[in-house]
Amino acid sequence: MSDRYQVFANSALGRMLIRNLGLPAPLSLDRFDASKPLVNGPVLLGAAPGSELVAPLSLVLKNIHAEAYAGAQDHVHRAAADAGLNLRMYNREDKGQKFKAFVFDATGIMNSEQLVELYNFFNPIARQLLNSGRVLVIGRTPELCSCTKHATAQRALEGLTRAIGKEFKKGMTSQVVYVAPGAENQIESSVRFFLSAKSAYVSAQVVRVSPSDIQLNIDWTKPLAGKTALVTGASRGIGEAIADVLARDGAHVVCLDIPAQEADLQRVAARIGGSVLGLDITSAEAPQKIVDHFKGKGLDIIVHNAGVTRDKTLANMTPQQWGLVLNINLSSEERINDALLANNVLNANGRVICVSSISGIAGNMGQTNYAVSKAGVIGMVQSMVPVLKEKGVTINAVAPGFIETAMTAAIPFAIREAGRRMNSMSQGGLPVDVAEAIAWYANPASAGLSGNVVRVCGQSLIGA
Ligand code: NAD
Repeated sequence: MSDRYQVFANSALGRMLIRNLGLPAPLSLDRFDASKPLVNGPVLLGAAPGSELVAPLSLVLKNIHAEAYAGAQDHVHRAAADAGLNLRMYNREDKGQKFKAFVFDATGIMNSEQLVELYNFFNPIARQLLNSGRVLVIGRTPELCSCTKHATAQRALEGLTRAIGKEFKKGMTSQVVYVAPGAENQIESSVRFFLSAKSAYVSAQVVRVSPSDIQLNIDWTKPLAGKTALVTGASRGIGEAIADVLARDGAHVVCLDIPAQEADLQRVAARIGGSVLGLDITSAEAPQKIVDHFKGKGLDIIVHNAGVTRDKTLANMTPQQWGLVLNINLSSEERINDALLANNVLNANGRVICVSSISGIAGNMGQTNYAVSKAGVIGMVQSMVPVLKEKGVTINAVAPGFIETAMTAAIPFAIREAGRRMNSMSQGGLPVDVAEAIAWYANPASAGLSGNVVRVCGQSLIGA
């Protein structure tokens, strides 16, 4: 669905009017383009004294051929040189130099007094981020810090990135990645995702990376080559975009939707060289049919995307409206997961990826059924981490905000316009934005991610 206000806002007349009237200015966001560098501009790297992640960060910057700079911080230049990164010197007096990304290793911040290192790094350069710029702060997982002062200071990093997300504007994004001790070699997929245009509509998020034995040499242009993925609700909207992006990354995608969507499903599968599974996921035979479909070769990635709304205030809601939404959005996913596990269908280093919603985080008027189902999805993700870990499988969720699809096109105009603008980007996201986050979880190199819930909401003002 097109956002006419955004198109107007990016015209010459629109820009002038919007500036003069103080209206929200939704910038056209950079989106992934394989013909452009992963980070399309210079990157400034910095670190608090005593930080431990400069070397692994430098290795990623080297691997993506980033044009990387650092100020006069000897410890950063030394660690980067050890990692083989050609780090250029940035003179902090040069205010004309603009950057596409700021990357700051804050793992060495041990107490609240040392939080001033954040100010020292970001204050002088705060006006030097390009449009669709990226801020990435690396910290240590607060719950795993052995000292309370360290845990406190690390937890404080969230405040910085969330506030920067609201302050810097111009389509930028800002996140914290918390790295557990021993997970230093698991950061590459997350650093690549958050520095690239793939994370266009993901901002103010907090991600936890845990250790994993999996060390891979993958082709980053086709990370899912040889993998099989099942995407539910794949005939349109977000599911269609997920199928597209997973296929772009090399997966064979099995597209599932209700039999009534067969024609659209065939169209999507044919376009991406995938296959079709026409099935209502709430039917009694659905879990076994899915098991039978993948028995033998196994399944690497399942994306539980199919979902519906039946909005009514709780007082006006029928038991059918409640039951239908809970069954499609949550219970059927549990039944399918149980069947996949009981029959050992998920392959090693497999992925279960769920689609929640900011409604499940913040609640929403007229959506008690939907909010319960989507909060339940988060509960399912978090509770299944240890169960799946035993099988070498990860489970994570995305929680989309306002995404331009048939689902949101059905919302009444005034509520739709509010949902679209009430975020740091002043615009709705695109289905591809959700799909890119799912592809990041699906990546074989994302074995250190499990139990994460990342919002794809442009830093919506609704909820946390
Ligand atoms: P959509 O209505 O365009 O697509 C949903 C798909 O799921 C449809 O193709 C539908 O046929 C399929 N489906 C529904 N019931 C099914 C069943 N019983 N068995 C198999 N397939 C079934 O919706 P969308 O906007 O693309 O949403 C996709 C997911 O994203 C949903 O889980 C939704 O709750 C979630 N979400 C969407 C938004 C948004 O802004 N669009 C925001 C937050 C979360």
